[in-house]
Amino acid sequence: MRLIFLLNYFFFIQFLFSPLVIILASQKSCDYCNKSLKGQYIIHKNKNYHHSCYDKHIQIYCDQCRLKIDGSYNTSNGKNYHKSCYQQYIQKRCDECGDLISGIYNIKDGKEYHESCYIEYILPKCDICKLPVEDTYVKDFWGNYYHEYHTKKMPACDNCNRLICDPLTRGGYSVNSERFICNVCKPEVVSKKSEIEPNLREVLVILNSVGISDLPKKIPITLVHSRDELMRLSEHRLGNIQGYTSYEEITLSGKVIDQHYHIYILSNLNKEIFNAVLAHELLHVYLFQHHLDLRSDVREGFCNLGSNIVYEHYGSKLCKYRLKSMDESTDPDYGLGYKRMKSSLDKIGWKKLLKNLERF
Ligand SMILES: [Zn+2]
Ligand SMILES: [Zn+2]
Ligand SMILES: [Zn+2]
Ligand SMILES: [Zn+2]
Ligand SMILES: [Zn+2]
Ligand SMILES: [Zn+2]
Repeated sequence: MRLIFLLNYFFFIQFLFSPLVIILASQKSCDYCNKSLKGQYIIHKNKNYHHSCYDKHIQIYCDQCRLKIDGSYNTSNGKNYHKSCYQQYIQKRCDECGDLISGIYNIKDGKEYHESCYIEYILPKCDICKLPVEDTYVKDFWGNYYHEYHTKKMPACDNCNRLICDPLTRGGYSVNSERFICNVCKPEVVSKKSEIEPNLREVLVILNSVGISDLPKKIPITLVHSRDELMRLSEHRLGNIQGYTSYEEITLSGKVIDQHYHIYILSNLNKEIFNAVLAHELLHVYLFQHHLDLRSDVREGFCNLGSNIVYEHYGSKLCKYRLKSMDESTDPDYGLGYKRMKSSLDKIGWKKLLKNLERF
């Protein structure tokens, strides 16, 4: 947005004295040619002129209609105009209301506006407070346009990142003091234990379609309300964690005789996000199952491929938003590691990727 305030070069000049014709002869000389004045001469602004000198050199003419100007007139860009000629032909008009502009005005896309017309009709309005947006603004993924300062006063939805307020999301609710869910996302969130099982079945089908088929039949999954709790369980240092898988092997005489898994996922995630997180955690289970101890960027990058296929499977706008966030992440494991694994997957496909995981 370009906002320019300019002072209109509008000068209004009022002559106090109109030319005065003097009939008396005198010893005076012409202030233009310096020759003596005989007979009638003209006095203008306390100076004396021959008629001919005055007409040719002192008298001003309108640059619009070419006629003489006596009395008040306007100048613009070094040219002189009758007041009426100036108003009719030269003075700027507002592109919104069509009236004359004098003083401060605004320019946008080559058009000129009264400052008040510009603010009222041309400046975009904030989707939250409905006032014109003159300073820094935010345009979110969902097309909402608002003053940047609202982001400091309103919580963002943990699923879609919309600012939670009546105009954008019809309100929302808090899961705890740090997590908020908007009312657009509310109908689709996973918040009850009974909702876990059908979603697990859905994710297993999606993973099965790329060749990940031998995951354990029974994996306990627990919903966790706060990130703090998840971080405590996982001993993770990052703040944006959404799921965690604990793993335990029971060995007897150096031989693994049993494996225990437990997946923890944030409650109140949108079903599609919940399933993407679940797919990520199930790939951790896959790695544990196959005793694949990978470098952290390869491990998290690989597990994020699970989230990737779930998001691509559903293909909603929310999924596209989450895929975009994953692509834009600069985290060495979840962002850069993911991008490396994704480009390998695109080159060699799932079958070869699963076979060669150890070599990454
Ligand atoms: Zn003269
Ligand atoms: Zn004129
Ligand atoms: Zn106007
Ligand atoms: Zn606003
Ligand atoms: Zn939301
Ligand atoms: Zn992970």
